[in-house]
Amino acid sequence: MSQDNTSDVQAVEAFFTRVTGSFLNGAFVNEGKTREVLDPSNGQCLTTVLEGDKALAEQAVAQTKKSFDDRRWCDLSPAVRERILLRFADLVEQHAEELAQIETLNQGKSIHISRAVDTGFSVDFIRYMAGWTTKLEGNTRNVSIGMPEGAKFNAYTLRQPVGVVAAIVPWNFPMMIALWKVVPALAAGCSVVLKPASETPLSVLRLAELAVEAGVPAGVFNVILGSGSVVGTCLSEHPDVHKVTFTGSTAIGKQIGHAAVDRMAEFSLELGGKNPMLVLEDADLDKAVNGALMSGLLNQGQVCAAASRFYVHRSLHDEFCRRLCEAVDGMQAGPGIDPQVHITPLVSRRQQESVLGFVERAREQGANVHVGGSVPKEGYFVSPTIISGASHSMEVAREEIFGPVLTVIPFDDVEDGLAMVNDSDMGLAASLWTDSLSNAMRLTPRIEAGTVWVNTHVTLDPCLPFGGFKLSGIGKEFGPEAINAYTELKSVCIAY
Ligand code: NAP
Ligand code: MG
Repeated sequence: MSQDNTSDVQAVEAFFTRVTGSFLNGAFVNEGKTREVLDPSNGQCLTTVLEGDKALAEQAVAQTKKSFDDRRWCDLSPAVRERILLRFADLVEQHAEELAQIETLNQGKSIHISRAVDTGFSVDFIRYMAGWTTKLEGNTRNVSIGMPEGAKFNAYTLRQPVGVVAAIVPWNFPMMIALWKVVPALAAGCSVVLKPASETPLSVLRLAELAVEAGVPAGVFNVILGSGSVVGTCLSEHPDVHKVTFTGSTAIGKQIGHAAVDRMAEFSLELGGKNPMLVLEDADLDKAVNGALMSGLLNQGQVCAAASRFYVHRSLHDEFCRRLCEAVDGMQAGPGIDPQVHITPLVSRRQQESVLGFVERAREQGANVHVGGSVPKEGYFVSPTIISGASHSMEVAREEIFGPVLTVIPFDDVEDGLAMVNDSDMGLAASLWTDSLSNAMRLTPRIEAGTVWVNTHVTLDPCLPFGGFKLSGIGKEFGPEAINAYTELKSVCIAY
């Protein structure tokens, strides 16, 4: 390992020994059904956790509700809450290496990503959101109410915490996506119950401990473990949950949205993407190829905003494919904890089989699988896969694969390229590659996606709203839009 992190390795081992199950009211729960948490690089058990059931989910909601009703968090002054969240950021920073190793061992990803993104970006994100705590505001309105005659009015808006928030998150960035929800909710004064994905429960449990250490009162941020079908359903249908915030598949997102509307609860859904790169004739090919590799293979493609379909002008198409193949040729596979490897495992056997199935069907349908689509090593690995000769109508160009599979399709006329970009059920993100400012200005408004990057891809910032169009979801994360989404806006009108 590149740095001396013996103490972090010991901290990780100590945590794996200490952790038992769900984290409710500031302590780990000691009962439930045992589940092995696996290391995806070899399928071996890292530790076991005790999963909750419907009864424990009910209890988790009740404790979260109690912490909101007794106002132990939302009644602290904004400045005090800000200071506690900043202390939380400091603790995440101090424990960054320990958290990064937990994430890599459990999720499989490269330790470089865990350090730079899962912990590095997360610390910046917590600090950014902490700052909003003291900046939430309503405003006064000049009303012209004419009765009763002679009455005067003072009217204003109040931003108040929405209440009890349930956050349900996936396994690709377990800790970071949890923080994208938990921190703005806490900054707004809400209490939160979080359900991680069953495959990746560990890092968020450590985060919950650190939040209490930072001064978030016990019971304000709870973590409930258990299956999506039982615990997830209970949270999304629970009458005491005022807002459900979800990241994951479109199918489950729809169910959660329906359940929320049934009781008129708030909801936000960050669902998948089938994100295109549109590479114009005048693009800088070096930059476009690098961008494709960076964004398409980040976390082995298990990124909702990853680029996975590449519409490349015919004059560049063959060279683009050749360079992608050349870049992935000879990449070493191994566990993410080894800083030398490039190919790290997918999260689970299930995801590995799902991704390999997409490649197999593309082959059967006549697409040209240049490289990859194989298992380079024991464990849940899939080698980076470059496909050309697929039509835009094939599954591999339309469905979210969530794996290291890049499909390249040529176009001649820019309008045809744009039409294929927009001909998708999803619209999370897209990127345009061009050296022409006028092309960039002309085309960005016409691309149907919540984020459009030009000459870059998957570059996020806590201040820039992130969320999809079409089946990619409803609502925005990041920026003031995110924190406002954890508030209710109340109008007050005082006659005097
Ligand atoms: P998923 O089923 O949508 O899981 C996401 C989260 O929802 C997990 O915590 C899951 O819990 C929970 N969940 C499952 N069923 C639920 C229900 N009925 N009610 C409430 N919560 C429920 O996603 P997945 O099965 O892990 O992955 C399937 C595909 O979704 C991937 O291949 C990928 O295409 C897409 N995906 C997208 C994102 C993204 O960032 N937008 C992230 C992950 C996956 P359990 O873990 O206990 O099932
Ligand atoms: Mg699932």
